[in-house]
Amino acid sequence: METNPQKFVDKFMAELIAKNPGEPEFHQAVREVVESLAPYVVKHPELQELKILERMAEPERIIIFRVPWLNDEGEIQINRGFRVQMNSAIGPYKGGIRLHPSVNLSIMKFLAYEQVLKNSLTTLPMGGAKGGSDFNPKGKSDAEVMRFCQSFMTELQRHIGPDTDVPAGDIGTGGREIGYMFGQYKRLRDEFTGTLTGKGLGWGGSLLRPEATGYGLCYFVKQMLATKGDSFEGKTVLVSGSGNVAQYAAEKAMRLGAKVVTFSDSKGYIYDPEGMTEEKIAYVKNLKNVIRGRISEYVNQYPQATYYPGERPWGVKCDIALPCATQNEINGEDARKLMANGCMCVGEGANMPSTPEAIEIFISNKILYSPGKASNAGGVATSGLEMSQNSMRLKWTAEEVDERLKGIMSDIHAACVKYGTQEDGYVNYVIGANVAGFMKVADAMIAQGCC
Ligand code: NDP
Repeated sequence: METNPQKFVDKFMAELIAKNPGEPEFHQAVREVVESLAPYVVKHPELQELKILERMAEPERIIIFRVPWLNDEGEIQINRGFRVQMNSAIGPYKGGIRLHPSVNLSIMKFLAYEQVLKNSLTTLPMGGAKGGSDFNPKGKSDAEVMRFCQSFMTELQRHIGPDTDVPAGDIGTGGREIGYMFGQYKRLRDEFTGTLTGKGLGWGGSLLRPEATGYGLCYFVKQMLATKGDSFEGKTVLVSGSGNVAQYAAEKAMRLGAKVVTFSDSKGYIYDPEGMTEEKIAYVKNLKNVIRGRISEYVNQYPQATYYPGERPWGVKCDIALPCATQNEINGEDARKLMANGCMCVGEGANMPSTPEAIEIFISNKILYSPGKASNAGGVATSGLEMSQNSMRLKWTAEEVDERLKGIMSDIHAACVKYGTQEDGYVNYVIGANVAGFMKVADAMIAQGCC
């Protein structure tokens, strides 16, 4: 048995990379977890004997399938669909569906791997999965999106179900796409169950599910700030992205007294020195969710703002940064800019938005830094609440869901503090989240034997 943590990590990663070549995002996600857990695992030979970490890095099942569909010109289009069912030790698989041209097996596996620990942290009984396709919904008509979603679900439906695997939204999959997928699932399976979450309010959806990831992020950051006797009040906040997570993170941060000065998309960012208002956020929601336009259009409506094409917002002076767009959107250089400008807190809304170099900079500067698997878990937690309501054929009020969401984010924060507090009192939320998430899954895997 290995007793040196660094040697354990080196050997583990060498084997993982040899077995999963060409999957950099998956390697990155696993390395972060294994580095956090190595000091614990080398002291517990039974975990090494039972190969718990090795089993957790091997998906229980991967489904890859052809998604043929017809565009509006009647031409055949072919996309690739994925579902990575990573781990079902503590409950049915649960995780979103990403529709974006960058989707590949590495990205699906990294997201599914993160999802296992995240779902465990929520305290709800959910295993981890992720799915998606390299389909790009941008620029497609509603009819094209519908035909794609129907074709995607025609294959996926054989592998999912309310007690098997319950998909949800992610990048490129919002209420419209969930609707088309749910409709097709229902036709083919002849059942109305809670198999997808993020459904419309009139057909099984939960109040507050659209808001949950962004709101949950702010509840988590609020708790982090409270450990320093601080709050959102009067803070300048950078938000990246302008999709689901970004919109509601900005809304809640603003309502908690912060001045939110940026939004972005894949083409650039806007800086509004006067900060967001309810009206401006409503404008962004309409621009992105209904008109499906670009964030650059914001400056036409609000001329005091400036648009920076091809740039990310991390050079703007701020107290708090909330990355809510995509993976690896804060690199080492961005992190150094944030530190130089006095940023005291980074709360991740996106999955793995900070590179390993950026995380190292945040932690060595001892700022408040939370990994997405802890601070963005409010989305999947509320999906778990949607599953409960569907099973019970009940509907909770927005206040009830919000109270549960606050309670879950608070419990996740407490678990991170419990397992992540270092000798000098600094809370390393990366270690805290990884250890807390891992323990529950590991215990279940041990109890269930070699499977
Ligand atoms: P949306 O599709 O609603 O929005 C994504 C936003 O990120 C858009 O503004 C998009 O810009 C931008 N973006 C996407 N890819 C890139 C890129 N390569 N570079 C720069 N910007 C990019 O997705 P969500 O808000 O749902 O998801 C955002 C992040 O949050 C993802 O990491 C997701 O995995 C994570 N997450 C989401 C949850 C949810 O409940 N929705 C739950 C937990 C995590 P553009 O319009 O130009 O593409």
